Amino acid sequence: TTDLCGLTALVTGGASGIGLATAHLLAERGADVAVLDLDPSGAPAPLRGFTADVSDDRSVRLAVADAAEALGGIDILVNNAGIGAAGTVEDNPDEQWHRVLDVNVLGIVRTTRAALPHLRHSSHAVVVNTCSIAATAGLPQRALYSASKGAVLALTLAMAADHVREGIRVNCVNPGTVDTPWVGRLLDAADDPAAERAALNGRQPTGRLVTAEEVAAAIAYLASPAAAGTTGTALAVDGGMAGL
Ligand code: NAD
Repeated sequence: TTDLCGLTALVTGGASGIGLATAHLLAERGADVAVLDLDPSGAPAPLRGFTADVSDDRSVRLAVADAAEALGGIDILVNNAGIGAAGTVEDNPDEQWHRVLDVNVLGIVRTTRAALPHLRHSSHAVVVNTCSIAATAGLPQRALYSASKGAVLALTLAMAADHVREGIRVNCVNPGTVDTPWVGRLLDAADDPAAERAALNGRQPTGRLVTAEEVAAAIAYLASPAAAGTTGTALAVDGGMAGL
């Protein structure tokens, strides 16, 4: 079943875009959902908001403990918080590499570390990481972002192997270009946002961007009992972009 009644979920980066769509869908399927975000005010009731910065271990530990207490445990962890970076290896200074890897990769490590004691108490324990087709597609002008998501993919497989025997499944989704506030911000920065959006749509095999709801549906599936036989995989939601 894809029903999540009686289960609890924690979604990082859950106040916007893919995370918010996921939090809404998990709640719609019956889960009690907490959102962990820099600013959780974007996630309305019945979602429970908790403030944390995934690049700050102490704030993650406190927020995960508060969320677990409010929910009465954690069955589903969605590690979705992430930031972008454009450019080749010549364009980003070391500080920016450290920052993006700190949020995108170590953010997952910190949140999972804090959540594992709670996941171990669950009879339906599952982790879903938001990765990207950038992990494997060899996209131009995305050296740092791709390296961070390549690490997320490898981390997903390693975590799946480490925790399979304790009944904890770990998978990731690989979105293509998704219509979220993040992409909206990039388009708004262009000289002609409407023309840029049309060009971006034109570069998609489907002629349109993937929606946040479509990525949420994949995450909700992987998080559900229907996917009980699936761990250590990446599910692409990219409108055919990566051509895998
Ligand atoms: P978004 O900017 O709309 O939402 C990201 C959320 O994460 C925001 O609410 C933000 O406050 C939160 N966040 C950022 N840094 C944080 C931190 N340090 N601690 C806690 N929360 C933090 O972005 P989105 O497009 O929904 O992206 C979500 C995830 O999906 C990211 O991991 C991103 O890499 C991935 N992704 C996005 C796309 C896309 O095209 N939009 C494609 C592939 C993968």
